Amino acid sequence: MLEHLGRPFNPSSVHREGRAGRKVIESARAQVAALVGGDPKAVTFTSGGTEANNTVLSPRVQFGADVRTFDSLLVSAVEHPCVLSGGRFAQNVIDRIGVDRDGVLDFADLERALNEHPGSFVSVMYANNETGVIQPIKQIAALVHAHGGFLHVDAVQAAGKVAIDIYELEADVMTLSAHKIGGPQGVGAIVRCGAGLGVPALMHGGGQELGYRAGTENVAAIAGFGVAAEEALAEIGVDHGYQRKLESGLKFISGDVTIFGEKVRRLANTTCFSLPGKRAETAVISYDMAGIAVSSGSACSSGKVGASHVLKAMGVEERLAESAIRVSTGWNTKVADIDSFLSVTMRLCAL
Ligand code: PLP
Repeated sequence: MLEHLGRPFNPSSVHREGRAGRKVIESARAQVAALVGGDPKAVTFTSGGTEANNTVLSPRVQFGADVRTFDSLLVSAVEHPCVLSGGRFAQNVIDRIGVDRDGVLDFADLERALNEHPGSFVSVMYANNETGVIQPIKQIAALVHAHGGFLHVDAVQAAGKVAIDIYELEADVMTLSAHKIGGPQGVGAIVRCGAGLGVPALMHGGGQELGYRAGTENVAAIAGFGVAAEEALAEIGVDHGYQRKLESGLKFISGDVTIFGEKVRRLANTTCFSLPGKRAETAVISYDMAGIAVSSGSACSSGKVGASHVLKAMGVEERLAESAIRVSTGWNTKVADIDSFLSVTMRLCAL
């Protein structure tokens, strides 16, 4: 990234510098496509996951020469706020689909909504950003398609952590973000399940990204995304055992701990837990003072206080939701970090 930041290339120019920039972008495009088994020709770079999701949630989608229109958007109740907001859909056509107590999509509710609105645009995330709970995307795709619908999968949290093949899952379109896999902030991607499928641009202008996203590309950030994608892909399946260590440590410290989504398939890097009676805000400060950055379940965006919509949708009581702490491990986490985290938790519980 540093090397590219120092170069003034405009990848749309035909001169040598421009061509060098283009080469960097195309190589990153192949690396990002590989992360989800996609076709590089069907990858569009954006300024992040939020822009990718806002672009994709479009009532008009191009299928080769045809344009399909959607009158209804169904989103799971645990989506990231940038999906819950509905993108380019009118607010009165958005319906939320419930989840069970473990945070897994309620298939009966999805089927009810699909029967009411056949041919809907459906958006379900691969893995939740607060709990790490993984949705059964292949089965969801089958149900959506059986009702003539179209499926978008926000794979921002799952990509690079679990093996994903967009074609095998039969997801129509996926969205990704670089900073969840150790890449830079402010770059993301839309991966369509084929170059013939087109989501109309949100940004209009110079026709970059084959007209799907105008604006001079952020070459350095895209290069960083590409490398992060390649490294994350190589690491998939490597289990450092951090989650087991962390969760067994929590249970050892307190018999009262609740780990949300514990019984179902979850990302190995995310734990959302609650210690009843311990205020999350106080706990976050104690961890911070020890140099450990964790979030309270209620503050999924900076500074926002209030019970997490994810835990609420899972039917978690207010008392537990208020104490929820989210921990995630990443490419730079070490075993010693888990030990420090558990020592702070032990001190907190002794208070
Ligand atoms: N979707 C999910 C599931 C996320 O967790 C996030 C970020 O936290 C986003 C979308 C938004 O991505 P970005 O931060 O790149 O805009």
